[in-house]
Amino acid sequence: MKNKINILIDPGHGGQDPGAIGHKGLKEKEVNLRIAIELEKLLNNNKFFHAILTRNNDSYLSLKNRKIFSNHQHVNLLISIHVDSSKAKYLSGISIWVVSNKRMCREINKFIKNNKNNVYFSKNIENILKNENDIYFKKTILDLQFNNFQNIEIELSKYIFKEFKKIVRINKLALNYASLGILSAINTPSILIETGFITNFEEEKKLRTLSYQKKIANTIYISLKNYFEHSH
Ligand SMILES: [Zn+2]
Repeated sequence: MKNKINILIDPGHGGQDPGAIGHKGLKEKEVNLRIAIELEKLLNNNKFFHAILTRNNDSYLSLKNRKIFSNHQHVNLLISIHVDSSKAKYLSGISIWVVSNKRMCREINKFIKNNKNNVYFSKNIENILKNENDIYFKKTILDLQFNNFQNIEIELSKYIFKEFKKIVRINKLALNYASLGILSAINTPSILIETGFITNFEEEKKLRTLSYQKKIANTIYISLKNYFEHSH
């Protein structure tokens, strides 16, 4: 690995937006932040990675402000950290979310129509887009890039599931596709991990502890390390 792999970690919610709340009062925004900070530490202790956080305290961040990060620097991967909730208290375990084709198609069309240069692409893609006037060709390039991002997301999720299986129940073993704003950057592969159910009594108890938050961060870290070691 020649260049460092830049990972943008996004702890969901924050400030006035607590996210989901457990039956014993645990707030999702706090769990997300602590897992994200632990993950950032682990990644930055490894010379192959450079990790940054969208927030490192209990501040409110709009979706626009979260997305600014990946639009102004080259990010190899965005990981958004969340905790799930449900009326069904028996539900527990992790799931992984990625952006739907439909949403990404809309984002790519929007970008081409607006023709603004406010998105940071890798050098080669940037050069093609800059010197090209044919919008269909541009769209083809971005579609191909998205196709590649999807392959990365699918492959990476296999590593994540494999590691998480060792510590927790998997709620949904297949990837979930959704129209989620945080995952809709057209220049970065992006995944969202629901790290457990805050509405499950046992999981709320575990998610509250630093040792379990560290365990989750470490599980994500090992998955990333394994994935990038095998794919580079
Ligand atoms: Zn959330």
